[in-house]
Amino acid sequence: MFEKIAGELKEAGVQLVAVSKTKSPDQILELYRKGQRVFGENKVQELVSKQEVLPSDIQWHLIGHLQTNKVKYIAPFAAMIQSVDSWKLLLEIDKQAAKCGRIIPCLLQFHIAEEETKFGLSLQEAEALLSSETFRGLKHVRIAGVMGMATFTDDEVQVGREFHRLREMFLFLKAHYFAEDPGFKEISMGMSSDYAIALKEGSTMARIGTLLFGPRS
Ligand SMILES: *Cc1c(COP(=O)(O)O)cnc(C)c1O
Repeated sequence: MFEKIAGELKEAGVQLVAVSKTKSPDQILELYRKGQRVFGENKVQELVSKQEVLPSDIQWHLIGHLQTNKVKYIAPFAAMIQSVDSWKLLLEIDKQAAKCGRIIPCLLQFHIAEEETKFGLSLQEAEALLSSETFRGLKHVRIAGVMGMATFTDDEVQVGREFHRLREMFLFLKAHYFAEDPGFKEISMGMSSDYAIALKEGSTMARIGTLLFGPRS
């Protein structure tokens, strides 16, 4: 399954983030040996404990909700934080990255699901952030794009609509705030159940767990 999905995404020019939450270091190593280097975790503690025992050239993406008091544990090594959903969090990432002498690539997580349960910014909140003086002063974070999760539903039309909206927000922000910045380029969308739709809607990064590792218990 890994070869098929990795091949399909590569063909489409989409980066595969292998979502390894709840999976063991040995299971991760299995994909590592097949060439996968980018892995995603949604919990800080689990991420840290895996990072400690796995090869140092793995690029770890934090994809789940991040509490500000835990940023310090992942700032030394996180390759990307995909789940920036508040101003306060972005400021803390900048502060902790500065302490490590790093610049951490981040994605702004948007609330795109029509259901009410998911974390994420609204376009209005993102604009307030990006147009502020304080944002321009941040030297240790780099906004590399956007991330979003669609509603968990069989309704493919709805999922397509939600992904479409994320891409439109990306294009809007690109035009208004990042026109001169080629580094603002990622649209992280698509999971096991909906990545085909996400690809059609212009995803550049898919976060896939179940299809690669099997179901989580
Ligand atoms: C768990 C998770 C995924 C992957 O989900 P699968 O359905 O197992 O592919 C993707 N994104 C986020 C934010 C997740 O928490």
